[in-house]
Amino acid sequence: MSLDTAYDPDNIFARIIRGELPAISVYDDDDALAFMDIFPQTRGHTLVIPKKARATNFFDADVADLSVLIARVQHVARGVRKALKPDGVRLAQFNGAAAGQTVFHLHFHIIPVFESEGLKRHAGEKADMAELEALAGRIRAALG
Ligand code: 5GP
Repeated sequence: MSLDTAYDPDNIFARIIRGELPAISVYDDDDALAFMDIFPQTRGHTLVIPKKARATNFFDADVADLSVLIARVQHVARGVRKALKPDGVRLAQFNGAAAGQTVFHLHFHIIPVFESEGLKRHAGEKADMAELEALAGRIRAALG
């Protein structure tokens, strides 16, 4: 998948938005959806995706859509920080398979980092769903 790959309306995240696939969400409005990454790099790894923008990556998104999305990323990242009290927070966004992108619907990663816990590899090991639900509950509560 190159940087110029056309948007596929049946990608996993588009199907999550349409409710065809499940997700453990922490935030949802008309413009953006945030949910737990099921192959998390750390405890609390969360994804934020645009709901209306049919953007494969950062380059083909409208700047207006991007500005709404980054505001939602900040909002959700604040919730993750408040809920889990990490030592640091990594924001990541990959474009093209060569850069590590595996799902071709624009998204931002919020990756809380804990000094005493390592980072797992990208899109690697499936999480325990009960643990993800519990983390999501804490993030939702922090978001109010
Ligand atoms: P990318 O590699 O495109 O930057 O990020 C895609 C992310 O989506 C990865 O971190 C991967 O773990 C996550 N992911 C892949 N499939 C699913 C899924 O079905 N549900 C959820 N919640 N996350 C997924």
